[in-house]
Amino acid sequence: MEVNRKWLSITEQTRKMLIGNVCCGQCLDAVTIKDVIIASDPIDVVLEGKCADCGHPVARVVEMNE
Ligand SMILES: [Zn+2]
Repeated sequence: MEVNRKWLSITEQTRKMLIGNVCCGQCLDAVTIKDVIIASDPIDVVLEGKCADCGHPVARVVEMNE
């Protein structure tokens, strides 16, 4: 499945939660990711972007269990 379609198959509520709960190595906290790019590895969706607080590059793997 195309990665954007995979991402959009997740409920909007969960997507918002994922975007708003990314660990930043600089802030050492859960932050909101901005300038998000939806990337992928062979199985999962990977969100890549920047910390909304400090601009540090952050990424989050979204495990696709379904
Ligand atoms: Zn940060």
